[in-house]
Amino acid sequence: MRQFTRQTLAAFFTLALVSSILQVAEPTGALRLDPQVTLQIVARRMGVEVDPGIPVPTIRFESVTSLKRFQDVTERQWGFRPERFVNAFVADTNEIYLIDDPAYYSAAGRTMDDTLAHELVHYVQARYGRANLSDWAECEAVEIQAWFRSEYLGSLAALLASAPD
Ligand SMILES: [Zn+2]
Repeated sequence: MRQFTRQTLAAFFTLALVSSILQVAEPTGALRLDPQVTLQIVARRMGVEVDPGIPVPTIRFESVTSLKRFQDVTERQWGFRPERFVNAFVADTNEIYLIDDPAYYSAAGRTMDDTLAHELVHYVQARYGRANLSDWAECEAVEIQAWFRSEYLGSLAALLASAPD
């Protein structure tokens, strides 16, 4: 009994630790890499050391997020109300909104992971003093997204492409 309790506590502790690393609101859908790993890779590429004292963003997946919530927070940031859900980092609420429909990514030749990398660049820009809301460094985000895709997802993409139908 004592042993069981200890194991249960250990499991709880591990869970708490994992969820404190990156506050993923829901299961990570089709993400292949741990978001914390992606954050570390992106930050290193930007020459930034991840500071445990700086709150990590919450990831909100489209499939489990109301359009109204997305519209309400992005309207404050963008000054207009988007008609549909798009991938976005919202600085005020420290959230990353992420489309989690696999069809969207296969049609665009992208993956959820490199899209998350793109939004994490904006997170680092905002939280680590690299940019402000009126001056998003979009080029940097696009460049790091492409680099991340070829560096970390390239072999995976090649594998998928060479797979028989
Ligand atoms: Zn962007």
